[in-house]
Amino acid sequence: MLSSRMSNLHPYIPGEQPKDRNYIKLNANENPYPPSPKVIKAVRSAAKAHPEKLGLYPDPDSNELKEAIADMLNKSGGVLCRANLEKGKKNGSGAIVSPSEFDKIPFVVTPDMIYAGNGSDEVLSFVFYAFFDSDRKLVLPEHTYSFYPVYGGFYDIPLEKIPLKADWTLDREKMLEAANKEDSPIIFANPNAPTSLGLTREQVREMLEKAPKDKVFVVDEAYVDFGGESSIPLLAEFQNLVIVRTTSKSLCGAGQRLGYLVANRELVNAVTTVKNSLNHFPIDFLAQTAGIAACRDAGYYVKCAQSVAFERDDFIDFLREKGWSVLDSQTNFIFCKKDGVNGLEAYKKIKAEGILVRRFDTPGIEEYLRITVGTHEQMQALREVMKEI
Ligand SMILES: *Cc1c(COP(=O)(O)O)cnc(C)c1O
Repeated sequence: MLSSRMSNLHPYIPGEQPKDRNYIKLNANENPYPPSPKVIKAVRSAAKAHPEKLGLYPDPDSNELKEAIADMLNKSGGVLCRANLEKGKKNGSGAIVSPSEFDKIPFVVTPDMIYAGNGSDEVLSFVFYAFFDSDRKLVLPEHTYSFYPVYGGFYDIPLEKIPLKADWTLDREKMLEAANKEDSPIIFANPNAPTSLGLTREQVREMLEKAPKDKVFVVDEAYVDFGGESSIPLLAEFQNLVIVRTTSKSLCGAGQRLGYLVANRELVNAVTTVKNSLNHFPIDFLAQTAGIAACRDAGYYVKCAQSVAFERDDFIDFLREKGWSVLDSQTNFIFCKKDGVNGLEAYKKIKAEGILVRRFDTPGIEEYLRITVGTHEQMQALREVMKEI
């Protein structure tokens, strides 16, 4: 009864969501803080003041949401938290949203440069459909967001996986070499997962200069708000650049399923065509309402991102003191291992104490743990457990 296509499917395995016990969840890179009170208020009053809207189709193109996203990007410079650049300065001044000179976008992001979808996973899926072909390899790092290979199977797109360098950074030279060999598109996450390391904007620019100009170059910025450098300013120079973002991590919104991309208009139109051929109304009315309110209260999320960044850096110091090898993180998670400690055993020991972290069976990273940064209390609880490992 199954189509032949089915044999290409290798579904993504998400971080576990067990119901049997009230675990401290540090395994899916969700934000430990609730959404802004203004989001809760907006959703409540939308349902109350306009109950009829739940019976009507939502705006298929999320126009007000795209305006709110564009506005947030223009005001913030596309990055909420630069805490890692001012290490040690534990300030709570996040309420002021203004870009540093460094982050300032040298043009105005307009709503027609944005496509919004039902989680960035769906946005990515449409990107794969719109820009990658089955007769041409897609170049990506060997270790990166594990949904990319899943979509590769779904859309029958051959992949060329380029191993990371010994220091876990992207091998930019090898990626470019592979892309130029067959005139291939490129995708990677920046900062990358599960390594937590990012490229600077200058490094992305250098790659873009050398990459094929007639193929799309996708940068997934799911974690950029925790201290990465956004490539949005580069859109002025590179017509083939597509930047994918999500509200799931830095905007405390994993439950509302809201992601977006920023790119030049033609590419946005292409993705919109895919959407209109597959899922005409991807974002429901309440999620649009929540997303609009979140973007309009970016200051709240700056504070959340700063708290996460400070907690992260404290925890990295703690782990290093305890003899763990930890990569410098620009994200809301930590990638670490300890010599002589088996990754699976460590994961099990931590789980037995009621805390979930992420571990991968993927060859090359089996001994590593990927720990989402939680609240101070959650990380305190994890400290107690990890002292014993
Ligand atoms: C979490 C994550 C996503 C998915 O985000 P959603 O908007 O929740 O679908 C995409 N890319 C990367 C790199 C991620 O870590």
